Amino acid sequence: MPKRKRKFNAVSGMFDILPSEYPLWLKIEEVVSSIANFYGFSKITTPILEEEELFVKGTGQDTEIVEKQMYSFKTKGGKRVVLRPEFTPSIVRAYIQNGMESLPKPVKLWSFGPVFRYERPQKGRYRQFWQFNFEIFGDKSPIQDVLLIQIFSDILRDLSLSKWIVEVNSIGCKECRSYYLRQLKNYYKNRLREICPECEKRLKKNPLRLLDCKEEKCQRVKKFAPQIVNSLCEDCHQYLKRVLEILDTIQIPYVLNPYLVRGLDYYTKTVFEFVPQDKKEGQSALIGGGRYDYLINQMGGKDTPAIGGAGGVERIIEEIREQKINILAKRVERFEKKPKMFLAQLGELAKEKSLTLLEEFRKNKIIIGENVGKDNLKVQLEQAAKLGVKYTLILGQREALEDTVIIRNMETGIQEIVFIKDIVKEIKKKVK
Ligand SMILES: [Zn+2]
Ligand SMILES: [Zn+2]
Repeated sequence: MPKRKRKFNAVSGMFDILPSEYPLWLKIEEVVSSIANFYGFSKITTPILEEEELFVKGTGQDTEIVEKQMYSFKTKGGKRVVLRPEFTPSIVRAYIQNGMESLPKPVKLWSFGPVFRYERPQKGRYRQFWQFNFEIFGDKSPIQDVLLIQIFSDILRDLSLSKWIVEVNSIGCKECRSYYLRQLKNYYKNRLREICPECEKRLKKNPLRLLDCKEEKCQRVKKFAPQIVNSLCEDCHQYLKRVLEILDTIQIPYVLNPYLVRGLDYYTKTVFEFVPQDKKEGQSALIGGGRYDYLINQMGGKDTPAIGGAGGVERIIEEIREQKINILAKRVERFEKKPKMFLAQLGELAKEKSLTLLEEFRKNKIIIGENVGKDNLKVQLEQAAKLGVKYTLILGQREALEDTVIIRNMETGIQEIVFIKDIVKEIKKKVK
């Protein structure tokens, strides 16, 4: 009897990227890569397969991802491994393992590749999906949180996506979070009959996740739940206030969402999500991230503050298609690695203005180095000298107030003062 030939299909929830779709994928990677280069991120690719323990410890034992969504299996050698469900623990592992802790801070890394989560497949949600991922290690300044949000806004804007808003929240630090969790538990303990069985478990294991539940009755209970912003310690409170202030100044559209928690264990202080303005029920965010000041230390590294975030490529493609945007014709600037000049700043106002100034340079296709998280001018000038740039722009406290900036010729030491509004024009004359 002749054997019946079997036709195969891709595994459920996983898709081919077909030749016809490739130009769009390449364009997205090109946009992300261009912005990453401009802001001094280096590319890193880690293996898709990692030890299971890395995510149990990193992402967190009681998170949805680790508990339910990991593709985990035993190798022939008997080791427990997983297909990575997210990037951050892998990047932290690579950073520690490869001696990157001794590099000058901040260390900025970006990646582009697939991640795997065993979820119910639905529109815009797949079991293998792609992410671009950015991490900044070794800087605890709130300006860095906003810089990362600015970078993600740039990516969306350069992809011609404008109908989004950033949701921001703080989930506090070791000290204030435990106080909040007690309040949250007390609130829910008295409402056990009003929440779903899943949330009953969350109450015991990971109460922050109560705020993530999509069940309608749980949403009702959440409406009156205590908000973490009211329990933040002074330090976390000031930090959040500063992040929001800077977002205001650089005019990134945001809302404070006091219930945004992002379901992972490692976040501290700032968390954020980019969501479409007309977000539909069950739709996931386009981009999400947050600060995680304890994770590197927890994973065996030195005490190092960090922040990162990731965008969903399929999710963004869905949005591009829905809005019928044609981005294929768009020309994307390729920035060389080495900056021709450096922007040094001093003071809070100067930091804020630096963010806008950097964008101005990016739009004018001039690559410029920065270290906006730093407070010490001397250190920044040394960094500029090390980079071998010909000009350093100095935005000090006085210049920031007067809307001027100093151009310092690094070879001759000669300095001139120009208005911020003329700076790009002046620089263009010099580096032509
Ligand atoms: Zn705190
Ligand atoms: Zn629930």
